[in-house]
Amino acid sequence: MIIVIEPLSRIFVDDRVVKLTKLNDSTFGGFCNCGGEMIQRGIATIGDERMIIVECKSCWKTDAIVFNGRLRTEKVEVEIVDRRNFKEFLKKHLTELEYESLIKKAHGEDYNYNAFSRAKKKLEDMGFDSDEVLFLLQF
Ligand SMILES: [Zn+2]
Repeated sequence: MIIVIEPLSRIFVDDRVVKLTKLNDSTFGGFCNCGGEMIQRGIATIGDERMIIVECKSCWKTDAIVFNGRLRTEKVEVEIVDRRNFKEFLKKHLTELEYESLIKKAHGEDYNYNAFSRAKKKLEDMGFDSDEVLFLLQF
């Protein structure tokens, strides 16, 4: 499963987060199953693989085209995490206590220091910038 974390421009794949470089030039990215035209929205590199995120102009479905070297290897369906469901995403990867400590810290409230340290370490081990995550949780 490939997840695009929209607000942080990251891709989550194989339990790791990698940076997604956004493309704004509307380059053609193939055709969708619905017959619509897809445009390239972003590109990411994961080890030896390059991935182009494409979005359908008709039905808004998002796919990842995964390249290994120069060969097109596969087209994979993508799940989008936006501002609304980013918290749900975090809850799946942190304990309740860790998640609460992040929210409290983001809102400037008293928080459980140990739980926060564990949450921060987990996020950073995944490849997140914990300050970026905290910033997003302020809202
Ligand atoms: Zn489509």
